[in-house]
Amino acid sequence: MDAGSVDAVIVAAGTSTRMAGRDKLAAPLLGRPLLAWTLEAMASATVVGRLVVVTAPERVSELAAQPWMRARDARVVPGGARRQESVAAGVAATTSRVVLVHDGARPLVSPALVDAVAVAASSEGAAIPVVPVAETLKRVADGRVGETVDRAGLAAAQTPQGARRTLLERAWARFAPGGPREFTDEAALLEAAGFPVAAVPGEATNLKVTLPEDLARAEALLAARLGPVRVGHGADEHPFGPESGLALGGIVIEGAPRLRGHSDGDAVLHAVADALLGAAGLGDLGRLFPAGDPATRGIASGELLRAVVGRVSEGGWRVLSLDVTIRAARPRLGGARLSAMRDAIAALAGLPPGSVEVKASSGNLIGFEGAGRGIAATAVATIQRG
Ligand code: MG
Repeated sequence: MDAGSVDAVIVAAGTSTRMAGRDKLAAPLLGRPLLAWTLEAMASATVVGRLVVVTAPERVSELAAQPWMRARDARVVPGGARRQESVAAGVAATTSRVVLVHDGARPLVSPALVDAVAVAASSEGAAIPVVPVAETLKRVADGRVGETVDRAGLAAAQTPQGARRTLLERAWARFAPGGPREFTDEAALLEAAGFPVAAVPGEATNLKVTLPEDLARAEALLAARLGPVRVGHGADEHPFGPESGLALGGIVIEGAPRLRGHSDGDAVLHAVADALLGAAGLGDLGRLFPAGDPATRGIASGELLRAVVGRVSEGGWRVLSLDVTIRAARPRLGGARLSAMRDAIAALAGLPPGSVEVKASSGNLIGFEGAGRGIAATAVATIQRG
């Protein structure tokens, strides 16, 4: 199927009755909210286009403002009282011919499974992933085992569940989402409406986080998938030149002297680029873009950093964080300028601003930068495989 041809609805509207009052979707897994991992997992399937997250009406604006939500350009819409009403609200915000509906509490779904469900739903009309029931099933009442249920022919349903939009709309025309009949998932609705639903093999690791102890299991599974973390260090310094318009940290400070250099002299971006190249084992900026190459004379260092970030990601690495320290007696680098640099660097590296820090020291009159003859910068980058 074409890349981006299927929209996905992520249901994040439920209350967590089995999580002792905790909002399980906000629970941190390896430092990020569970729902952020689910969003990332769905977005990493090439078939998925638009992402729609359905949540409780009072949480829409807070969730929409999250950097990981904005980074994925996901639309956040208010849900209803029951799952089926929330799903209907989410599907209404999609535009594709086939729609996927996924539990917000399943952060471990693989791109291959998402693709498989989308393909089957497109050709068969509707499809869900199922896994064999591993344990012997018993019917239990009043603390006593009544009977053993034959497992033959039984399977456990997972998400994403996929369907052609027209089938969902026809099923809702018969069983209104706000009506008396309750369906536990989209397959149940389609079955009731008489539409066949195809089963595709699910994944044992496509865990639904339901109980507090599931969080530890989900975290262990996520950690096992991620590759090693590496750290790189970069340092650079440039003297002031005769021109005005200081390029530093991806911003321009008018009125301050420009740094002398083959490019625009942005020592901060050069230090960041070297830290990234060092972490990824890709050499340094001077080797990648030799000084003296007329093609890069006077080039904005943002372009160099963008190219470096591209090399690093082609090498299979994801940038986790950047930390920069500037030493400059002049110009004054106050909070507003440092925040603007942080935002500029974050944008160039494709990171949320919270993953970048830019700090400054006057140099305490020590060395060439302390004496105001130039600016020095050091940077540390962390990157992760995968
Ligand atoms: Mg330099």
